[in-house]
Amino acid sequence: MAVASRAITLRSHLAGRWVEGGDPQTLVNPATEEPLAQAGSAGLDLAAALDFARRTGGPALRALTFAERGQLLRAMADTLQAHRDELLDLAVRNGGNTRSDAKFDVDGATFTLSAYAEIGKGLGAVRFLVDGEGIPLARSPRFHGQHLMVPRQGVAVQVNAFNFPAWGLAEKAAVALLAGMPVLSKPGTSSAMVAHRIVEILAEKQVLPAGAFSLLVGGAGDLLEHLGPQDVVAFTGSSETGARVRGLPQVIRNSVRVNVEADSLNAAVLGPDADPASETYDFFLKDVLRDITQKAGQKCTAIRRVMVPAHVADRVRDDLAERLRAVTVGNPAHEGVRMGPVATAGQLEDVRKGIDLLARDGRLVYGDADAKPVGAPPGKGFFVGPVLLEVEAGADAPSVHSHEVFGPVATIVPYEGPAEVVELVTRGRGGLVSSVYSEDAAFTTEVVMGLAPFHGRIFLGSAKIAEMSPGPGTVLPLLVHGGPGRAGGGEELGGLRGLAFYLQRVALEGSRPMIERIATRLR
Ligand code: NAP
Repeated sequence: MAVASRAITLRSHLAGRWVEGGDPQTLVNPATEEPLAQAGSAGLDLAAALDFARRTGGPALRALTFAERGQLLRAMADTLQAHRDELLDLAVRNGGNTRSDAKFDVDGATFTLSAYAEIGKGLGAVRFLVDGEGIPLARSPRFHGQHLMVPRQGVAVQVNAFNFPAWGLAEKAAVALLAGMPVLSKPGTSSAMVAHRIVEILAEKQVLPAGAFSLLVGGAGDLLEHLGPQDVVAFTGSSETGARVRGLPQVIRNSVRVNVEADSLNAAVLGPDADPASETYDFFLKDVLRDITQKAGQKCTAIRRVMVPAHVADRVRDDLAERLRAVTVGNPAHEGVRMGPVATAGQLEDVRKGIDLLARDGRLVYGDADAKPVGAPPGKGFFVGPVLLEVEAGADAPSVHSHEVFGPVATIVPYEGPAEVVELVTRGRGGLVSSVYSEDAAFTTEVVMGLAPFHGRIFLGSAKIAEMSPGPGTVLPLLVHGGPGRAGGGEELGGLRGLAFYLQRVALEGSRPMIERIATRLR
């Protein structure tokens, strides 16, 4: 694609300076296909970039206490907040986000940085964490054991998907930096302008010590081939890429820690007690509607399977279809548009193919793969309207439980009782989050216990929290994010829990006075 003259070149920030890579890809506005920027990474010396981060950023961060690192995160949050409008505009242009989608990403980044800044403040003036109580190892209390958690001395390589360029960068970086590890962040290329601008701003203001934060824009190249035994990789993206990362010879040989956040067929279960006149029913519909349309369904946590008691399936279908009818699809720069395009031409093709696949197991009840977008140039943009499908029996619909359509698409699946709904949801082979909308404690307990081993998070939808809840699709910094099986097997965030990935747990075994002296000297 020809790049317009005003399209900018995004450079990477490696080894403390801005560098331009070769073989650039063009980044476009997904609503208009206007070229906005180009980014390439060919020829960049990624081994040297990692080495610089290890030698420069690592020691600088480890010299600080948790409270001081928390102050860095606070400064990052404040800096992002000061540039909020500019970042929102970029997210609208390069991400196809509505302004509300853009806030979800950018404000989510600031919120997560602030949450970890507070955690750092709470941990105080220490450079390592004591893990649990001391353990007497013999009859005499002198022979003693104590676990400590200390920062790893490598680089935290963080590879993100295209859908959350701000939040993805910030949620991973907040935890690693607080733990004392330097970060090399690689955003998804198609939407990298927001991540790039964030790093540009942070570098201009010199918010972080040299080497503490590096940015690679463009393809990953040979980055992961240079990982050493103290490095870690936090990856977010598709299951296929996650599996490839995990299987890299260098990763296996050096026992590099890998955290994978992959895809998920998140389910929302409507309880049999939530009749259509109830507040819980209304809350459920709102959450499903939000997840289909927010970010055009490009959220790893979005509800894909709408599990409803068989006797209300028709009612849920009609009510959802009616609400979807009110959603205006188009160029998010245009007033009144509630849902923008998907991110790329490839993404659009995948979504269309996915809808065809799901429709083979059931039928399409609302929408179609072609949208009539408002405010987009004729024939341009990667638009698909919201789509609702239904199946007659979840047990006869294999694709619904195995294929993630990363777009504004959900399928209604009827069920008869708690045992059946648990069996159907767990066909998804592990998920990030599922939700149960019910006021019936017996039903909810049975479903929660059935789903818990297969999920990282379970959202309990009730009218009692409707006012304050952002719904199951929002990842909160104090709760874990991740899930077993197809969701990647990873775990991020969760307040203090997230730090463990970037810290080495070590057991000290010896005389109690010596262990206590060491602990005091290390503070
Ligand atoms: P993707 O194609 O797997 O790409 C993810 C990231 O990996 C991008 O930065 C990509 O770079 C990079 N990448 C691609 N090939 C690589 C390789 N061989 N080595 C190292 N890095 C490589 O996924 P996507 O299309 O961006 O994202 C959509 C998927 O992500 C969906 O399936 C969604 O469910 C999942 N997701 C999960 C979560 C979660 O938290 N669990 C969050 C968001 C999205 P380029 O962009 O340069 O190709």
